[in-house]
Amino acid sequence: MTQTRIYLDYAATAPLLPEALAAMMPLLAGAPQNASSLHFEGRRARAVLDEARERIAACLGAKRREIVFCASGSEADTLAIFGTARLRPGRHIVSCAVEHHAVLRALESLESAGYDVTLLPVDRAGVVDPQRFESALRPETALASVMYANNEIGSIEPIAELAAIAHRRGVPFHSDAVQAPGWLPIDVDALPVDLMSLSAHKFGGPAGVGVLYVRDGSAIAPIVYGGGQEAGRRAGTEHLAGVMGAAVALELAEARRTQNGPRVATMRDRLEQHLLATIARSRVNGAGAVRLPNLTNLAFSGVTAEAMAVRLDLEGIAISPGAACTSGVAEPSHVVAALRDGDPREAVRFSLGPTTTSDEIERTLQIVPAAVAELRRGE
Ligand code: PLP
Repeated sequence: MTQTRIYLDYAATAPLLPEALAAMMPLLAGAPQNASSLHFEGRRARAVLDEARERIAACLGAKRREIVFCASGSEADTLAIFGTARLRPGRHIVSCAVEHHAVLRALESLESAGYDVTLLPVDRAGVVDPQRFESALRPETALASVMYANNEIGSIEPIAELAAIAHRRGVPFHSDAVQAPGWLPIDVDALPVDLMSLSAHKFGGPAGVGVLYVRDGSAIAPIVYGGGQEAGRRAGTEHLAGVMGAAVALELAEARRTQNGPRVATMRDRLEQHLLATIARSRVNGAGAVRLPNLTNLAFSGVTAEAMAVRLDLEGIAISPGAACTSGVAEPSHVVAALRDGDPREAVRFSLGPTTTSDEIERTLQIVPAAVAELRRGE
């Protein structure tokens, strides 16, 4: 009998929720839909767009006009950073070493255009020190950007505290919250960010839909030019089915969050503790942090992440070596390197989701120790 595959790579992408698909299907199959058109079809499309925007805003405790749709989490990050930097006089930006490459590469690009970028270090748990953050802010700081939850090790940054510090110093605060929905509260007033990036495919919506929350009063310049969509902040005909799928998925992720979190954390803890107990010279990268409930980053000494991911794939288990977003070729993890504790070539990420079952975790526990032993023997 063939066993079904075990998907433990939710942080790379989550399956589309059936409810999101159901909301998308009539929009994909139905009448033409350009929300900028003046005719009946256009007005109907506009109503769908407005509804999706309203529902996403409600999940964030935001206003409808504070939601900007774009095509990915990467684009939302880039828009937040370039869009803010272009309109502010200062030429200094503060961020941190464990950010996603969408943020780091955008900052590198600004650096090559003459900006000064301070990348704050993190502690061994992957967390930024608020005092260090405060000391890094300068009168000419145009933006501070620190992620909410890390996509490789799951560490949660103290963004409410960091945002409050930034505000006292008159600096706008952006957070890449792509890994947060479904696991962490996302109310923008409690956090309290000025800009926040989300990506629908991480919480059960479709890939190719990003959301940038832009607080009233925070101006951003567009990075995509054309029509005046999204109140002039992002040109391009909106992906109506996509944004409605995102809205439905975000509502469900938020409604199920407090139930899913503890249930999935129990499975994650069992996976982590059992592997640590049965595999010699194994460790958790970023242990000690307050972490996302669904993710663990493990290292098995002497076994490269790539070898481990390939091996487990053959055994029917999907995991990621380092960060899936940069892979294809597994690079050493810049996040684990920033912890200065553990080998960045040996970091493998197991990320669970709402549909992960205990049975899948038990099967994984039977497979992984043998796979590590074989790889260590050089088989
Ligand atoms: N930011 C974080 C923290 C992520 O984990 C990812 C994707 O893995 C992104 C940004 C990019 O999102 P997208 O795949 O929608 O471009």
